[in-house]
Amino acid sequence: MDLTVILTFRCNSKCQMCYIWQNPTDPRQEVSLETLAKLPGGFDNLNVSGGEPTLRKDLAQVVDILYPKARIMEISSNGLNPHRLLPIIKKYPDIKVRFSLEGDEITNNTIRGEKNGYARKVAGLKMLQEAGGRDLGFAFVIQDENVDQLVAVYEKARAMGVELATSTLHNAWQFYKNDNYFYDRLRVARKVEGLVTAQLKSGKPKNWFRAYLNLGLIEKILGHDRLIRCTAGKDFAFIDPWSDVWACNVRSDLPMGNLARQSWDEIVASDTTRATLGKVHDCDQNCWMVTTARTAMRSNVIPQAPKLGPLAWVLYNKAKVSLGGKVDFDRYIDYGDIRQSPQVARSSFLGARMKANWAPDRSTTDQRYPLRSFFNR
Ligand code: SF4
Repeated sequence: MDLTVILTFRCNSKCQMCYIWQNPTDPRQEVSLETLAKLPGGFDNLNVSGGEPTLRKDLAQVVDILYPKARIMEISSNGLNPHRLLPIIKKYPDIKVRFSLEGDEITNNTIRGEKNGYARKVAGLKMLQEAGGRDLGFAFVIQDENVDQLVAVYEKARAMGVELATSTLHNAWQFYKNDNYFYDRLRVARKVEGLVTAQLKSGKPKNWFRAYLNLGLIEKILGHDRLIRCTAGKDFAFIDPWSDVWACNVRSDLPMGNLARQSWDEIVASDTTRATLGKVHDCDQNCWMVTTARTAMRSNVIPQAPKLGPLAWVLYNKAKVSLGGKVDFDRYIDYGDIRQSPQVARSSFLGARMKANWAPDRSTTDQRYPLRSFFNR
């Protein structure tokens, strides 16, 4: 099982596609070291995220507790405080680190509301490389404003010897947003084809499977059904800053339990989790994020291997591209079927003196997540 631990909703970016920074948590209420120590071992990918996880003063201790419990430990960061990750990477060079990067200097800094963000994260990743980091990379949220730079950012990552993870605009309780729509779905989807082809041309099998993941992103951008059924709550789960465990980070009606009050075994075997798994089975949201898609791509028999469908697609199209051919995207994707988006302008907060909306009384789930339902189509 994969697990994401959202350590905090505090954040020092002001992204247009994620309003966590407008809803910061009180550090005194954030999931404690004692609670995290209750997690069992044996997780596959264990991702520490936020908000911005480097704002937790005890991040190094969190890593000491969680690192032995997972096959792969990952830290998702905005990259603005790379020096806080330096001692962690020196101690655990195989920890996977991804810094959010949304394009070139102007585009990244505008979308993310970051002062000198681009320069700080590029220099920071280089610093972690020099410190011995072995699995470093950028993470890119595809949207109308940056999709023209997608292949260039992939090539920049390759030139630096680091990875590129991709996702797209999404609505979710984690992001406190329900208006993350594309303005021109067809244009954005067609632009992602360039990345799929570039990844298939690469010599790294990891990139070939990322190409399949990005094929799924094209479906998502157009508003189509997921390529593979979701396995939230069974193959992956999320812990929020209040120690609540959720099947996914999208629907706020998929609870599993609370790690501060229960053991992990109690949570997994609870009636709450059973009811949630039933809702996941019937879920019609078209989520396709790294966590949700990666786990769904895995074989039910050999978890480290891919399912036959993705494997066959990868082998066929890799061979085709290697022989000078082109991926026939129209064979896989119905470009005649495009969902309409409401034309709601997304805003950027770059340079604005924004005050966080910290609400002291957030003792119930309704107070923590006032948006009740989320629309992803
Ligand atoms: S498809 Fe449904 S259950 Fe799965 S991650 Fe999305 S909202 Fe959650």
